[in-house]
Amino acid sequence: MFDISVNLTNKQFKKDKNDVINRAINNGVNGLLIIGSNLENSYDAYKISKKYKNYCWSTVGLHPHYANLWNDNYVNKIIKLIKNDKVVAIGECGLDFYRNYSSIKEQLFAFHAQLELSYSFKIPIYLHCRNAFKFFFKILKFWYYKIPATIIHCFSGNEYELKKCLDMNMSIGISELFFNSKYRKGFKNDINLIPKNKLLIETDSPFLLFKKTYNKIYKKLKGRNEPSLLPNLLKKISLLRNEIFSELDKQTEINTFKILKLNKNNCNYNFNNLK
Ligand SMILES: [Zn+2]
Repeated sequence: MFDISVNLTNKQFKKDKNDVINRAINNGVNGLLIIGSNLENSYDAYKISKKYKNYCWSTVGLHPHYANLWNDNYVNKIIKLIKNDKVVAIGECGLDFYRNYSSIKEQLFAFHAQLELSYSFKIPIYLHCRNAFKFFFKILKFWYYKIPATIIHCFSGNEYELKKCLDMNMSIGISELFFNSKYRKGFKNDINLIPKNKLLIETDSPFLLFKKTYNKIYKKLKGRNEPSLLPNLLKKISLLRNEIFSELDKQTEINTFKILKLNKNNCNYNFNNLK
């Protein structure tokens, strides 16, 4: 399995990145995507992906929370970073009207600029959308068929929104938020709507360790999620989809390798065994 959302640059991981990574490896997690959400931590994510080069890859981009920081210099700095082969997607970027830390206008501007970069440099786009699907689809309908690949991470929308994302050929990142969002009902139905080859999984660590789901270990981990917990999520998904754990494990991993065009020669995992 592969964790497509690890915020390893977060200060909660400042002291023990090595231990976190080792625990993930020991629990059968074969790779991590380290997320950039502003310019500073995109650089840090890149550095991590270089250091753990057989195991981590990274994204570069501006999260909608930080959209107010966008300026022309960003474009050049992002272009510099995406020229490195460890940087495999633009993002996370998109819209977040749940918190609205940046204005809608600022969010739309930064989102458009990053879509343009994905299109120009033929690099996948890594999307975040919370409570903003109406605007999100309005924008993406002009882009989705032009950009090379699209991931929506931490999907939290309803059935209609899920179908619409699939119509736009997106791969769907499933985290605990999918099962815990108070806005979502009918997750059993929805998780079964996602074709096997479009399913990706993620912890979004250190976030999204829900107390009610991880009651037993919540205290021990001091509320911090980490990639070694990914098998719990995969188990839940495999039960709901009535699929064999080990097959879904391989499938979600190959989906990640394919969509992000990860360099199989750099990876410990034997890519050739996967269908
Ligand atoms: Zn996000």
